[in-house]
Amino acid sequence: VSAALSVTVDVDGEAGLAGGGSLSARSERLYGVGRGLDRVLAVLADFDVRATFYVPGVTAERHPDAIRAIAEPGHEIAHHGHTHASPHRLSAPEQRREIEHGLAALRALAIQPRGYRAPAWELTEVTLALLIEHRFAYDSSLMDDDRPYHLRGLLELPVHWTLDDAPHFAHTTDARGLLATWQAELEAARREGRHTTVTCHPEILGRAHRVDVLRCLLDEASLPCVTHGDVARSLA
Ligand SMILES: [Zn+2]
Repeated sequence: VSAALSVTVDVDGEAGLAGGGSLSARSERLYGVGRGLDRVLAVLADFDVRATFYVPGVTAERHPDAIRAIAEPGHEIAHHGHTHASPHRLSAPEQRREIEHGLAALRALAIQPRGYRAPAWELTEVTLALLIEHRFAYDSSLMDDDRPYHLRGLLELPVHWTLDDAPHFAHTTDARGLLATWQAELEAARREGRHTTVTCHPEILGRAHRVDVLRCLLDEASLPCVTHGDVARSLA
């Protein structure tokens, strides 16, 4: 792949909150599905960009209309576990259930995901083997390179915490800092002729005072925007 950008959006919804979360904790996540998602989709539409949305199975079950709103303009939807439990905290049979139930939930909406992203980016050998067994084309959870690479028959599309809105806004409210980081990464990817990935969450970046980070990034991006599925196809 020559220089290109993938925008990835993790639509966790209420999945993965400890103990199911309080009404308040769930409400903050629901803002993502009910409000922030529309803003993110509107920015992507303004720039005619297709993104890859990673969705846990339970979130697809709880919010099918939101998932249809993502799929309708042609965005890619990929697997993000079922309950958003981190694979490294689960037994092997539990990891299998996460993959198979997550697949069933997406297929119930006529979505056949080609890619997977581990919740909390905590991929394990067991889950990796399950992805191969279920013929996934790619994973996007690891950090040992910043270029796509082949991993036991899968394509790995690496990620990094510094390019994710969640840890950034856990430590600061400064949206310009995230934009500057993303822009520096894009410029490096262009110079080095490589693909790169940024990650955001609708409940975080979809806030009114933050979504312009994505708008400014796409407005000034000097790279073509592709989905993870596009990259996997081009490197198959
Ligand atoms: Zn997630």
